Amino acid sequence: MLQVFKFGGASVKDASSVKNVASILNKYKQTPLCVVISAMGKTTNALERLVNAYCNKTENTELILEDIKSYHFNICKELFTNENHKIYTELENIFLEIHWAIEDEPSSNFDFEYDQIVGIGELLSTKIVSAYLTEIGIKNLWIDARGIIQTDNTYREGKVDFELTQSLVTKEILSKFSEFDIIITQGFIGGTSENFMTTLGREGSDYTASILAYCLNASQVTIWKDVPGVLNADPKWFSRTKKIEELTYHDAIELTYYGATVIHHKTIKPLQNKNIALHVKSFINPDEKGTIIQNNDKRLNYPTYIFKINQVLISIQPKDFSFIAEGNLSEIFDVFSKCGVKINLMQLSAISFSVCCDYNTDKINHLVQTLQNHYKVLYNTDVELMTIRYYTQDTIDALTAHKVILLEQKSRYTVQMVMKNEL
Ligand code: ASP
Ligand code: MG
Repeated sequence: MLQVFKFGGASVKDASSVKNVASILNKYKQTPLCVVISAMGKTTNALERLVNAYCNKTENTELILEDIKSYHFNICKELFTNENHKIYTELENIFLEIHWAIEDEPSSNFDFEYDQIVGIGELLSTKIVSAYLTEIGIKNLWIDARGIIQTDNTYREGKVDFELTQSLVTKEILSKFSEFDIIITQGFIGGTSENFMTTLGREGSDYTASILAYCLNASQVTIWKDVPGVLNADPKWFSRTKKIEELTYHDAIELTYYGATVIHHKTIKPLQNKNIALHVKSFINPDEKGTIIQNNDKRLNYPTYIFKINQVLISIQPKDFSFIAEGNLSEIFDVFSKCGVKINLMQLSAISFSVCCDYNTDKINHLVQTLQNHYKVLYNTDVELMTIRYYTQDTIDALTAHKVILLEQKSRYTVQMVMKNEL
């Protein structure tokens, strides 16, 4: 039965990692595989720097581009013994396109420029992996996702046209499995009806894998990561974490919704709709079991933690100290949506409306200025948002020691707290 694999940036960050991916694919020789790959290592961040330099003239674009180029060419030097391998010309051509693009003056649409340049990382990585597989005798077909994943022109967060994408997947991918066992394509990117490149949002390759699995009716999806599976907390913040063996779609959706970054938040829903199991496994120990996300009735019997730093807590009040009414709320939500600020948590009281969001300075400044036309706006930066699913009082006490809780919300299974370090 057909499966979809997704390999993230860390799994293809250097030549030996690419070889490791090939060895994993080799183990699944008997299975038809659609393989989705992200940009190598930190390439997407480097490309973001390039777009900023290009649009805001902050840095020398050529130097950044040279770094990205030599990073990829050095990987190729280790993978391909033949100096005249055709991969070099293929990569040169992709780089030439970026080079030309940044020679022109940028348009005023930053998000558009962003997608045309940042999505290149996935084209480079998939070209290299596909060529390497061919080199070592693993037959595969490289497919350009821009011609498959069709989106509208919401640049940097393309909305997928599932109907159109479905028919393209059937025609351009499914039919190819009669001839190829492995199909390689890019995560994160799509195309518009006008043939412009779009991206699905940072870390969106997981979502690509899910869209393709949905359209291919795959039996399962595996996301290969540098951790053993889904953990009950991020090891960056917590010293004692444990791997979750099995998770329901529902819990997985909740955890990613509250900000668990292990899987992109849009990934689960399409899989749940078709009952396709999602495995999260380690590419370092590919034979270990990992986490399975699927339909079951097992609720976790221990807490999971999601910790977000760099939050801002904004409190909004009518200038005349009247009550907040429904009319105010719709006006306030409209400002949030226009300023592109996502709400992580909100709470309404008689005279004020409080909202916790990621503290993105530019966006928040714009938001606060706009709101100040009609409201009194106060805000508190340097706050943290802690979410505990399946909490107990002990876990809450342990995590809030030496913290001031500014706002708390509790439901049956989940508690969320906006807090600050005690002075
Ligand atoms: N390369 C993109 C990013 O780093 C997409 C992904 O990795 O999923 O955001
Ligand atoms: Mg990534």
